[in-house]
Amino acid sequence: MYSPEQELALRLEIFRLLEEREVGGQYEFSRDELANFYIGELRLPLIDRGRGIRNPAEFSSTLSIMTTVDGPYADVLDTAAFVKYDYRAGNSSDNVKLQRAHQLQAPLIYFEAIRTGVYAAHYPVYVVADDPVARVFTITMDESLRFFGDPTTLPPDQRAYAERTVRARLHQPAFRAKVMHAYAESCAVCSLKHVSLLDAAHIIPDGERDGFARVTNGLALCKIHHAAYDRDLLGITPDYIVRIDHALLDEVDGPMLRHGLQDMHGRALAVPRRAADRPSREALATRFEQFAAY
Ligand SMILES: [Zn+2]
Repeated sequence: MYSPEQELALRLEIFRLLEEREVGGQYEFSRDELANFYIGELRLPLIDRGRGIRNPAEFSSTLSIMTTVDGPYADVLDTAAFVKYDYRAGNSSDNVKLQRAHQLQAPLIYFEAIRTGVYAAHYPVYVVADDPVARVFTITMDESLRFFGDPTTLPPDQRAYAERTVRARLHQPAFRAKVMHAYAESCAVCSLKHVSLLDAAHIIPDGERDGFARVTNGLALCKIHHAAYDRDLLGITPDYIVRIDHALLDEVDGPMLRHGLQDMHGRALAVPRRAADRPSREALATRFEQFAAY
């Protein structure tokens, strides 16, 4: 058994290592990699194969929980600010360790299934409520929501506020993973394939009413094309053609302007191979009006 200090230090080191990989461009984690996770020389699996919860024997409380996907590819993300997690059947020690995670407010990892055997990671997440009668735990998906406590006791306006505050951030890891996969890790405008320079951009911004975190509202764009798209210096027609702002086309500058932007004018957007993953023409049309009016 680790001491509470050792256990917390290990959790924080795991978060740091996951974050380091994400900063390096990694956007999803495979089952194999999570089951063979190393902290230096120490092998510490982050998941338990075949089960939705990981309770290391040397840990006083739960390290991670995970969801599964039913189909091979779930298009709609349904992550909410608070996630319900049912008591495990048949193994009461799992429930005891999750109860302890609630009492101790231990930081956990929540692995959200993107495809079969592939996950986006949310961390730290916390158990904020335990209902032994309904046999369900409530997990908050964002650290800032932890202090709201049990969401069932919140007035509706506060709960709505909590959901709104974290919505975009919650969707981001899974959204990025799905968009990168659909676009085969390549900028839809210039085909750049360096994943740490690629973003998952929204066609309709996530904070807006019609903004949704589906692949069809996404585009894999490199940093420069993402910024140009967000500032309406680059537009994409509903027919998947790239347009560059008129004023920008007339400017004279170095190679980034010429090759990186002006040469993209009239180029066909590289869309995902799978038809169901391609950008929504309706969303593109709405967004293109804004570009054209600019
Ligand atoms: Zn690009």
